[in-house]
Amino acid sequence: MTVTASEAPAAAHFRFFDCEVLRTRRLGHSFLRVTFGGESLAGFRSGGFDQSLSLFLPPPGREHTVLPSTDEDTWFGAWRAMPEAERPVMRSYTVRAQRRTPAGADEIDIDFVLHGTGTSAAGAADSPAARWAGQAVPGRRILAIGPAVAQNKSVRFQPPPGTDAIWMYADETALPAAAAILERLPAGTAVRAWFEVPHEDDRLAPATRADADITWIVREGAGRERTGRVLDALRSTATATAAPAAPYAWLAGEAGTVRAVRRHLVQERSVDRRAVRFTGYWRLGASEEELLAEAYAGRAASEDPASEL
Ligand SMILES: Cc1cc2nc3c(=O)[nH]c(=O)nc-3n(C[C@H](O)[C@H](O)[C@H](O)COP(=O)(O)OP(=O)(O)OC[C@H]3O[C@@H](n4cnc5c(N)ncnc54)[C@H](O)[C@@H]3O)c2cc1C
Repeated sequence: MTVTASEAPAAAHFRFFDCEVLRTRRLGHSFLRVTFGGESLAGFRSGGFDQSLSLFLPPPGREHTVLPSTDEDTWFGAWRAMPEAERPVMRSYTVRAQRRTPAGADEIDIDFVLHGTGTSAAGAADSPAARWAGQAVPGRRILAIGPAVAQNKSVRFQPPPGTDAIWMYADETALPAAAAILERLPAGTAVRAWFEVPHEDDRLAPATRADADITWIVREGAGRERTGRVLDALRSTATATAAPAAPYAWLAGEAGTVRAVRRHLVQERSVDRRAVRFTGYWRLGASEEELLAEAYAGRAASEDPASEL
C-alpha cells in the first residue's frame, strides 16, 4: 500500500502488523525473498493479485521500528511529525504470497529487489529498504501496515467484466505482483506480458494456468535508454493474432517507462485509456521519501496515488 499525505488508510481496511523475519532465500541475481511471521499476522488478509503494503524501516543505527502511535486514525500525523532523524522510513512492497503453515502459523513473502547494494547494476544513493533486506536475518523485526480485509484498495488489479485479454508490463519491482496476478488467473485467460529484468537469471517464470505469452526484456546494464528498449520490444512483438476486443492492461514499474508504455497502448494500439491500470512503483533518481514529499506538497496530481511516482 502506498500512503499519501491526503489519504491515510481507512481504519477498517488496514492496520499495523509486527513482522519477524523467519528466513531469506535468494531467487535470482536481483531478488531476495524475505519470509515474515509473527502472531499478529493471524489478522493479515491479503487480497492477492498485486496486494501491496507499507513497511516501516528502523532509522539508521536503530534495531527496531518505533512509532509514536499505531492507532489507525492518528498514526500518519504522528509519524509525519517525528524529527527526520528519528522517523522510520516508509516503503511500499508487494505481498508476494500469504499462507498458513500446517502448524497453523501465518507467513507472508516479500520479494525485494536488491538494487544499489552492489548486487545489481543499478546504482542508488541510499536505498534503505534494499539495504535492510540485504541484511535481513531471522529474528529481525519490522512494522508493516497492511490489509485487515481482503477487499481493499491496495489491490489495484481490477479487470472489468467483459475483459477478453490481459496485457501486462512489469519491471523487476513489479514482477512479484505480476507473478502473483498470473498465479490467480483462471485457466485459459489470454495474457500478453512484457517483463523487464536486469539480468538473465532474474527471469523468474511465474506459475500460471492462464494462456500466457511472455516476452522477457533483459536489460543487462542499459541505463536511461531502458524505456526505448521496452517500447521496441512491445512494437516488435505485436500480437500476431487479431487484437482482443476488450483488453485490460496492468502496467507497473519505473514511472517514466510505465507512462511511455501506457501512451503506446492508448495511442498506437487504441486501447481504451480507462482499461489501463498503471502504477509507478519507483522513479529513476528519486527516493520514495522524495516522492512522498512531492505528493505531500501537492505537486503530484493523482488518479491513483502510486501512479504519480
Ligand atoms: C505498490 C508498490 C509495490 C511495490 N512492490 C515492490 C516489490 O514487491 N519488490 C520491490 O523490490 N519493490 C517494490 N516496489 C518498489 C519499491 O517500493 C521501490 O523500489 C523503493 O524505492 C525501494 O526503496 P529503497 O529504500 O530501496 O530505495 P529509495 O531510497 O526509495 O531510492 C533510492 C534510489 O534508488 C532508486 N531506486 C529505487 N528502486 C530502484 C530499483 N528497483 N532499481 C534501481 N534503482 C532504484 C531511486 O530512484 C533512488 O534514486 C513497489 C512499489 C510500489 C508503489
